[in-house]
Amino acid sequence: MSHPLPSATFPDGQSVPALGLGTWHMGEDQASAKAEIRALQAGIDCGMTLIDTAEMYAGGGAEEITGEAIKGRRDGLFIVSKVMPSNASHKGTLAACEASLRRLGTERIDLYLLHWPGRHPLRDTVVAFEELRSSGKIARWGVSNFDTLAMRQLSALPKGKDCAANQVLYNLSTRGIEFDLLPWMTDNAMPLMAYSPLDEGRLLRNPDLGKMAGQMGVSPAQLALAFLLARDNVIAIPKSSSPERVAENRASADIELTDDQIAELDRLFPAPRSREPLQMI
Ligand code: NDP
Repeated sequence: MSHPLPSATFPDGQSVPALGLGTWHMGEDQASAKAEIRALQAGIDCGMTLIDTAEMYAGGGAEEITGEAIKGRRDGLFIVSKVMPSNASHKGTLAACEASLRRLGTERIDLYLLHWPGRHPLRDTVVAFEELRSSGKIARWGVSNFDTLAMRQLSALPKGKDCAANQVLYNLSTRGIEFDLLPWMTDNAMPLMAYSPLDEGRLLRNPDLGKMAGQMGVSPAQLALAFLLARDNVIAIPKSSSPERVAENRASADIELTDDQIAELDRLFPAPRSREPLQMI
């Protein structure tokens, strides 16, 4: 019997599992569509009910895969999607959201993010997000790839404080956000979504991580995810197109890291000692 997943809480009180499902690269090849749908459904079946997607992934293909995976079982799921910066004008955001809703086959996106800062005034994007929220097409909105300064600037805009989340690159080998962004998010009671929690798979080939995981009797992916799950209000969204690897990732919630193990991870993957520019993929 596996441990329940830890949860994260949005400023409006909505709770979600702290381990969700990524979808980047899904929907790119018709030949793997069935496997991708099965993998997402396997994740939902074991409690990973948060799915992260974006209009950008496979030109809408990942949203369509997500739509297939959630067909007939939308209740209880938490769907995250993103508008591309090039679409993030006032009108463009409204239109992009409609198109995403259509591809997802749902009437509401639970969290709608600006994918990264772009050329359209952020103020206009926020106005569009608020309109979408008022009409019930999205339940809440947030941003992605925003550093601490950008979060402060957003906060100063009208309704800017209603931002619900920031999704950034965060994994054992990319810990820069721990210095100032994560504390800022904590102070503002906002969950941080950790994308590429396995560093797109690269971490899994790290010999130090492999050795430590081997000694603990877990897989490198499980150890990398356990590191993130041990943090308050951090949501990790690993992507896998294999039901077996999804189940393996889910089992990372069964690992309770000891103080010694946390210290060893800190030795192998040091925390930042000064402010670092935000890294992104
Ligand atoms: P991840 O760090 O999640 O790594 C995914 C890779 O790891 C895939 O190649 C996958 O292969 C492999 N993998 C997953 N689980 C295991 C396992 N247990 N054992 C071995 N290999 C494994 O990378 P992503 O970049 O996909 O990040 C996760 C999600 O974050 C994305 O899918 C997307 O939703 C989001 N994202 C957001 C960004 C943003 O700008 N906001 C940018 C990048 C990602 P396989 O599928 O074959 O299992």
